[in-house]
Amino acid sequence: MEFDTIAAISTPMGEGAIAIVRLSGDEAIKIVDQLFVGVGGKQLKDVPSHTIHYGHIVHPETKETIEEVMVTVMKAPKTFTREDVVEINCHGGLVSVNRVLQLVLASGARLAEPGEFTKRAFLNGRIDLSQAEAVMDLIRAKTDRAMAIALNQMEGRLSKLIRRLRQTILETLAHVEVNIDYPEYDDVEEMTHRLLLERATEVKNEIERLLQTAQQGKVLRDGLATVIVGRPNVGKSSLLNSLAHENRAIVTDIPGTTRDVIEEYVNVRGIPLRLLDTAGIRETEDIVERIGVERSRKVLKEADLILLVLNYNEPLTSEDEQLFEAVKGMDVIVIVNKTDLPKRIDMDRVKQLSQGSPVITISLLEERGIDQLEEAIASLFFSGDVEARDLTYVSNSRHIALLTQAKKAIEEAIHGIEAGMPIDVVQIDLTRAWELLGEIVGDTVHESLIDQLFAQFCLGK
Ligand code: GDP
Ligand code: ZN
Repeated sequence: MEFDTIAAISTPMGEGAIAIVRLSGDEAIKIVDQLFVGVGGKQLKDVPSHTIHYGHIVHPETKETIEEVMVTVMKAPKTFTREDVVEINCHGGLVSVNRVLQLVLASGARLAEPGEFTKRAFLNGRIDLSQAEAVMDLIRAKTDRAMAIALNQMEGRLSKLIRRLRQTILETLAHVEVNIDYPEYDDVEEMTHRLLLERATEVKNEIERLLQTAQQGKVLRDGLATVIVGRPNVGKSSLLNSLAHENRAIVTDIPGTTRDVIEEYVNVRGIPLRLLDTAGIRETEDIVERIGVERSRKVLKEADLILLVLNYNEPLTSEDEQLFEAVKGMDVIVIVNKTDLPKRIDMDRVKQLSQGSPVITISLLEERGIDQLEEAIASLFFSGDVEARDLTYVSNSRHIALLTQAKKAIEEAIHGIEAGMPIDVVQIDLTRAWELLGEIVGDTVHESLIDQLFAQFCLGK
């Protein structure tokens, strides 16, 4: 059987760990050869099977060195998928691994779907269905929650934006129809061109903005802007210290801002958090209390992640309820602290107020529950485990890939409009952009039975 070449990140990306970009397929070696500069200029296509090679991943156009790597070349059929497999071992963090993956995808590989390596092993006769099932079970056990969280929290906002863009394109297409129906009216055509250009540019700008601010990229560049909120005395500074201590934080005083903003960078399972503290968490800790409701709302708005802390040992107060109200619709992890003390909080009410956000019970004093908290943080964005991280990471990269393609299609359309191309040619590009965006929200995805089967294994539904 012959398939295209797929790629994905396939190992944990935690601190110090080596992350692997794995490729499988006929073109795997050829693709990596375009990017890999080995010692003495050797080509991977000439090396024996099952050998490891030191070198650098270099951007084929800019010649920029992206990452120092060890590349493993395994030729078919003695591989897991029975296809040619290349593994690029990167020892950098998320940023460089992501860049290597993006380069591999730009060079002709397709992003692997969840479970696709295993699916190939099965389809190529390397393993039987029950073996495939076993592998999938393993994946499933660790990713259920991660997938649910990732889908709920990450795609909600994105989907809304995407659907709006699709609507704009659809409306624009409707105008194009008018033009095609009445080509004899010059002014209609002129108007249509102007309007088309306007709308298409609008959509393009939106996509560009999305690509720029895509959660993933933003996180990788700046760290996840994280704000700790809660009433006085619930344990906010203890939490900050715990996260900072456990993860060897670097305390940064941003020059020029004196004491206005203190940022703590901590690394939670490979995910950089930028713990934001306006006016100094260490001093009063309570943003709402110190800087007033209005300003704290603004701080909250700029946060990627809210850690809302409650006291296990006290009944919920109206202030707690107000905090829930203030962070509605955001990525929130609810932390119920002081479980070493008797329970006085109404956990049912907490769950209700949390509206599906993770609720973690911890005792900072006894250092219990901190692992679960870290896992919840990781799950929100990349998910916490080896395989789980693969999955959510994949879905992010998939979005980036689709958005990039959609942007290209829109640019083609704009180019066509500007060049005075026939309107029905422009229509094709617009329709393509509309379809690509639809794939992000799952509106135009068609899956064959076998795909569904494996997707089910993988998502554990
Ligand atoms: P903040 O005002 O929200 O920042 O709360 P702090 O972090 O300053 O903690 C308030 C008090 O609660 C301190 O005396 C902490 O030692 C105590 N505290 C924090 N976490 C726990 C916990 O898990 N259990 C108990 N029993 N006390 C805690
Ligand atoms: Zn405090």
